[in-house]
Amino acid sequence: MNLLNLSLNKVMLLNPKQKDNFCLPYPTGERPYNCGVCEKSFARRSALRIHRLTIHEDVKSYLCPECGSAFKANSALIDHRKRVHLKVKPHVCEYCKKDFFSKKDYVEHHRTHTGEKPYECQVSNLDLNTG
Ligand SMILES: [Zn+2]
Ligand SMILES: [Zn+2]
Ligand SMILES: [Zn+2]
Repeated sequence: MNLLNLSLNKVMLLNPKQKDNFCLPYPTGERPYNCGVCEKSFARRSALRIHRLTIHEDVKSYLCPECGSAFKANSALIDHRKRVHLKVKPHVCEYCKKDFFSKKDYVEHHRTHTGEKPYECQVSNLDLNTG
């Protein structure tokens, strides 16, 4: 009985859907590079790197063509391009025509006109008004 083959068979059984063919047994059987995220280990650093990039998706694959910034999600890249490069600011203040990319910024700015203070405690407001 070959112990190395036995343990490899066990690994295969535990990971029936494994996609990383590149981590197939290295001839010497030595795999000093541990993934750290899962139980796998690899003979070569490059194999480990590819494994982590592909299996654990620790990769930002959406690159901005304008500045080279990388993003994990296409939506994040689109947001970045709108904000930084296209300077799209869909929220326009109806009072002073100042425009904002983020709705949050717009709402906060809008309050400077309306005097609305949503974070103020309603109870202490009442106390102040009656006092
Ligand atoms: Zn892993
Ligand atoms: Zn960019
Ligand atoms: Zn305004």
